[in-house]
Amino acid sequence: AAPARDRLRIAIQKSGRLAEPARALLSSCGMSWRESRDRLFCYGETLPVDLLLVRDDDIPGLIADGVCDLGIVGRNVLLEQDGDRRGNGRVPSFREWRALGFGGCRLALAVPESCDWRSPSQLAGRRIATSYPALLSQWLEREGIAAEVVVLLGSVEIAPRLGQADAVCDLVSSGATLTANQLKPVETLLESEAVLAGPVAPFDDVRGELADLLLRRLDGALRIRHSKLLLFQASRNVLPDLLPLLPDAEAPTVMQVDGQDSLALQALCHGALTWQRLEDLKRAGARGLMVLPVEGMLA
Ligand code: ATP
Ligand code: MG
Repeated sequence: AAPARDRLRIAIQKSGRLAEPARALLSSCGMSWRESRDRLFCYGETLPVDLLLVRDDDIPGLIADGVCDLGIVGRNVLLEQDGDRRGNGRVPSFREWRALGFGGCRLALAVPESCDWRSPSQLAGRRIATSYPALLSQWLEREGIAAEVVVLLGSVEIAPRLGQADAVCDLVSSGATLTANQLKPVETLLESEAVLAGPVAPFDDVRGELADLLLRRLDGALRIRHSKLLLFQASRNVLPDLLPLLPDAEAPTVMQVDGQDSLALQALCHGALTWQRLEDLKRAGARGLMVLPVEGMLA
């Protein structure tokens, strides 16, 4: 077992799609760091939580080996390496702790646009290029299809044009890369996003308390990420018209202002408060509408 440590170490991507949002999320949990000269290690100043900046592919292994305690990585990478380890008879040594709501994409199967796609059984005996052999093999097995998996580390989407494969299994977000390569997505194997990954078992030293503190702050930060505080006034009798316009709000706080009739309300809304919605609320009788940003929240 790894020696007991009194600081928490989190691995995040050094550069790439998840690097900035991962750091921003941790910063919003009240952390700041001093960076080492080589920019690989960031020493936590406000909390004993340090960062290690690495290639995303290394993150699950760093957790498995106990070099890092937690990591922020795509679910696709985490599950691929988990599948690979299981395939090699190793026990799982990391798991997803939280979905983080950024880095969204899906692992999709794509075929040439000219292909008349009807069902996965068409893949029998075909070659499929991918950087996710474990996830693809699991899916093929579930579907009961025997196909050849061609492992490529990059440029998977040009494999069909090069005659290397008949289909590809790759990450897709907008689909522009597929279109540019005359491919179309036909099956989704996995919905992915960035996740906080950690060990299977909880920590049994002071890192456990640090991890709990981090999770509480993270949950607060995730909850208010797109939230706004809405303040307005209304007469009591229009409340039944107003509340259905706030389906994404937590039960509003209602205060009586003058006499019987006039109420002041505050509601935490989790969806986008567009001009359209504010106008709808005004039309239904809301007065003095005000939208405020939410800086922090602790449940
Ligand atoms: P590294 O140098 O750290 O190995 P990388 O090139 O493997 O970086 P990125 O391209 O930065 O990785 O992608 C990191 C993660 O971003 C992916 O594993 C995936 O979870 C997520 N992601 C979101 N959208 C996409 C997309 N369109 N293509 C690829 N990855 C995406
Ligand atoms: Mg990588």
